[in-house]
Amino acid sequence: SPVVTCSAAVSPAHLCGVLLSAMSRLAAVCGGSRGIGKAVSRLLAEKGCRLAVLSRDGDAARATVASLHGADHVAFSCDVSKEQEVQKTFESIQKTCGNISYLVNAAGINRDALLLRAKPEDMVAVLHTNLLGTVLTCRAALRCMLHTQGAAIVNIGSVVGLKGNAGQCVYSASKAGLEGFTRSLAKEVASRNVRVNLLAPGFIRTDMTAGLKEEDGVRSIPLGRFGEPEEVAQAVLFLLESSYVTGQVLVVDGGLQLAM
Ligand code: NDP
Repeated sequence: SPVVTCSAAVSPAHLCGVLLSAMSRLAAVCGGSRGIGKAVSRLLAEKGCRLAVLSRDGDAARATVASLHGADHVAFSCDVSKEQEVQKTFESIQKTCGNISYLVNAAGINRDALLLRAKPEDMVAVLHTNLLGTVLTCRAALRCMLHTQGAAIVNIGSVVGLKGNAGQCVYSASKAGLEGFTRSLAKEVASRNVRVNLLAPGFIRTDMTAGLKEEDGVRSIPLGRFGEPEEVAQAVLFLLESSYVTGQVLVVDGGLQLAM
């Protein structure tokens, strides 16, 4: 239970604010500066969470934080693929903001190419960001999540990780790896009441899909359109707030998987 000390000059309204902030859940969103992560940050802030928004570009993370509902949000510049950076960032989050209740891993990149044409440095970047990055942030965040009631992690995978796609071998491998990782971690930490789930989006309208022609892509989507980041955020919220769902993959793809 939070301990709040105050001087006699503090007004009841201020004290109320301090208490609320001490009691509201802290959510860390990796890749929270743009796209799906930004929509997740926005929704969680509207639901009363305090946010720690992480991305490589600290200015972009700060801009996101400035746009969020409520106060007490913080931005961190952090490359999730770098072990020491991740470790230091999560120590700093715990020191300045307290224990993390929710972790959302939405940091990701794609460098799509047929395998025979793929550059080794691109393969390493994709695997290190999407797969290793998620492993590292989960490990760093878990240390304090084990002490938080109702803690939960949502990793963002992809339908491509479940079904495969020509031209996306390495990206697909990074996302398929997240499925095994998520299910295993869910088993490891269930006894500590921490839940871990994977959300697998289809085509979502963000910077990552900006280069795609939507009219080509939508032919294979039963709902006939790309999804919006806010629609993924709603599903992330469900997984975070549920109490009896763990080790699962939730597909949010407008039915795309049915046609793959
Ligand atoms: P965006 O490109 O819009 O956003 C990616 C986010 O990740 C940015 O905030 C970016 O910030 C951050 N990021 C990238 N690399 C790193 C890194 N090394 N360390 C920290 N942060 C990083 O992508 P989306 O929102 O579309 O994608 C979010 C997740 O959803 C990804 O994992 C993606 O693979 C997955 N996904 C997306 C789909 C889509 O159709 N959009 C479909 C299926 C899955 P910065 O560049 O400043 O670091």
